[in-house]
Amino acid sequence: MSDRHTVRDNISPARPRQPHPDGGGGTSWSLASIRALDWRSFEALSGEMFRRMGYWAAETGEGPDGGIDLLLRRGRKIWVAQCKRWRSRQVGSGEIRELLGVVAARQAEGGFFVASGRYTRPAWIFGRQNGLELIDGRRLLELVSHLEIPHYPAEGPRCPRCGARMAVRAVRGGERAGTEFWGCVRFPACRGSRTL
Ligand SMILES: [Zn+2]
Repeated sequence: MSDRHTVRDNISPARPRQPHPDGGGGTSWSLASIRALDWRSFEALSGEMFRRMGYWAAETGEGPDGGIDLLLRRGRKIWVAQCKRWRSRQVGSGEIRELLGVVAARQAEGGFFVASGRYTRPAWIFGRQNGLELIDGRRLLELVSHLEIPHYPAEGPRCPRCGARMAVRAVRGGERAGTEFWGCVRFPACRGSRTL
């Protein structure tokens, strides 16, 4: 995954936060507000972040213990992602080693670790040596600055384009008006659909 390094190198220093012009509706995250999220919301926000980065992303629902939090795809390649919003402690190399183990077990292209806090120096070094992408709180703020927590249904098929859920929709007009189909819940951001 060669573009990963480009993304990292292009990070700009933290911008001053701009109040949203209409005083509402816009999302303005702080590290404190991200850390206050429950794990499911944090996972959902992280999933949305990866979709905006161009990945097909699905929450695995494997929970906070064991397993992985997000499965990512681009073409035929897959990545795995862990999402942790620990309040106080730094992520150590042990967690990054575990991620590497999951990457190997799933024969993934690589792995991401998303944390609302910081990593220890050994964690950074181990991650870099093994081609894993570590996203810390500061970078996370940059990446989610304009995102809101999506409230997607827990059921329904996955969108073939982005990995979010699909819901039953009906064609609005034309010859097929009223015909029902599966449409991506992220419409209009995503126009993925499937026949019912
Ligand atoms: Zn979609």
